[in-house]
Order: sequence, then C-alpha cells, then structure tokens
Amino acid sequence: MSNPRVRQRYFTSGGTVRYPVALFGTMVTMSVPLTAQAADGEQLRLLHVHAHPDDESSKGAATTAKYVADGVRVVVATFTGGERGSVLNPKMDRPDVWENIAEVRRQEMLKAREVLGVEQVPLGFIDSGLPEGDPLPPLPEGSFALMDPVEAAEPLVELIRELRPHVLTTYDEKGGYPHPDHIQCHRVSMAALALAADPEYRPDAGPIWIVPKVYYQMGFHRLRYAALDMAMHELGMDSPYGERLATWEDLNYEHRITTRIPCSEYFEIRDDALRAHASQVDPDGMWFSVPLEVQARAWPTEDWQLVYSALPTVIPEDDLFAGLRPVPPDEPDLTDLWVI
Ligand SMILES: [Zn+2]
Repeated sequence: MSNPRVRQRYFTSGGTVRYPVALFGTMVTMSVPLTAQAADGEQLRLLHVHAHPDDESSKGAATTAKYVADGVRVVVATFTGGERGSVLNPKMDRPDVWENIAEVRRQEMLKAREVLGVEQVPLGFIDSGLPEGDPLPPLPEGSFALMDPVEAAEPLVELIRELRPHVLTTYDEKGGYPHPDHIQCHRVSMAALALAADPEYRPDAGPIWIVPKVYYQMGFHRLRYAALDMAMHELGMDSPYGERLATWEDLNYEHRITTRIPCSEYFEIRDDALRAHASQVDPDGMWFSVPLEVQARAWPTEDWQLVYSALPTVIPEDDLFAGLRPVPPDEPDLTDLWVI
C-alpha cells in the first residue's frame, strides 16, 4: 500500500494558500494545506537524517507517513549506501544478492521512498559494517564511522542550507542502536547543525540556516516493548519480546521522551516501507509478529526527544512542529511558558 493521500496533498481546496517556494533553485507555486503550513505560510519541511538505507523505514516511518499525508515536505538524508550490510532475509540469501548488495540496496531504497512519499538524498559515504568478534576487528579504512565529523558534515550542511528544514531528526549520542555508523550519524548531524548556522563556514554554500527544532529518534525504549508484550499475553499470543525485556539494561532511557506522535493509522505504510528493503528484513520475522491492531491499541505513537527548540513549546508534545504552526487568534500565547 502506498500513502494514498500523498498525491492529493497539493489539490486540497479548503483552507489552502498558494505560495511560491524554491525547490532546489526552481521557483514553483503550490498549494499548502493548513495541516502543513508554517507560521509564515510556507510549507513545513522535515529532514530525517539516517545512517543506512532501511533506517528511515524502521525508525519513525509512521511519523513520516503521517506528515507526508498532511502535506509536509519530508526529506530523508542517508549517510551511507549500506554497502556492508548483511542479507538478513533468508529468502534473499542468494549469491546474486550478496554480490550486488550495494545496487540491491539502492533499488530497495527507491521502492521505500515511493511507499513513504519522501524525497531522499544519499550523502555518499561508505557503510562501516557492524564489527563482530572478540576482540572487535578494526573498522574498514575509508568507512563513514572513521571520518572526522566536521569533514563528513559538509554535504549535510549543504542540504540543510538548501532545504531550510523546520525540524531535523537524528539519533541520540549512543546511536539509538550501537552500530558505529549510527553513533557517527549523531556526531555528524550535530556538527552539521552547528556549521549550517555558522556564517564563517562555506559562505558559498548559501545563507546560514538555524534549524528551529531538533529531535532524537526514540523508537527503541522499554515502555513500548513492555506494552506490546503485555498486550500479546492478554490475547494469549506468543510475545517476541520476553527475552529482550528480561535483559533490558537502560531503565532511564524512556524518561527522555518529550514528544509522542499518534500515527497508528500509518503503521501499515511503515511496514510496507520496511518490507521494501527486502534484503534487510525477514517478512516472517519479529518485526512483523505483533498484529497492527494490537500495536495500535497498546502503543499507538512513535516517540521522540526534543533536544533543541528555538521556539516556545510545551512538553509533552504531540507534534514535531508544535510552536512552528500559525497560531489561531483564540489560542493562548505560549511565550511565557516553558522554553527548552
Ligand atoms: Zn542502520
């Protein structure tokens, strides 16, 4: 299933404005539905920064599908091509897939971005692979995780200055998942945010841009898995999460959540996008073992940590763009409330 509202988003008649915007240098006129308007009438823009193809579909993808359906411009930046990824789907574990993994993953990404309705920008770095063994082997020379974060930030700075996103999401300082490319994704994203706002850095790359709101993706936390586990047991079904919960170490992680986006009606699109990465996920595996209606009831949100906001907002939030939208005349002025 593709996102059925994507193609309609510019044709909504009620409550829209026509607004000229620059799309990578070309001036076009488009209608911006109210659900996607920034306070100045421009289309809201969301930039997700990820390490590999498939991360955009396994982390926050229902949030993405929701905002795309609302008419928000969503761009995914992917640092690496996933060239050192394993084949994780037994049905795709074939020599021709292994031999052509970079091209296979490129094609899978094309499918996933169609399903999600996003634009995607490959940033051109080489996957570091997930080192295994004791002791761990060194990372391959030239791989993304070995790069100087400031040097590696350059293409992302260019993208930020061109796109001027209202919201940028990335991973937390531990990567959200301990893959060296995910930890590096955090480092490089944070460097790029600072450099994009620095007038001394690459003045030829366009005017500076201070991203108004920055979030960490918080999908893998104990509360969610515990809720899904309990819901499965209540239905008499086998839960895939028992072992994971029993050995869960970081019990404080979940307290970082500031923002929960209700998006259960987009879980199916999220799963379709993930299945598009056929070499990376077993369609009969754990990712898909909890029925969508159980997920929608037990944990109907995707979760985020607001780490920077140039605007007043109120925690908890249920919208990544809280504070960025036009304020209706009868809404209270939030200026005096809690500023992060
Ligand atoms: Zn990844």
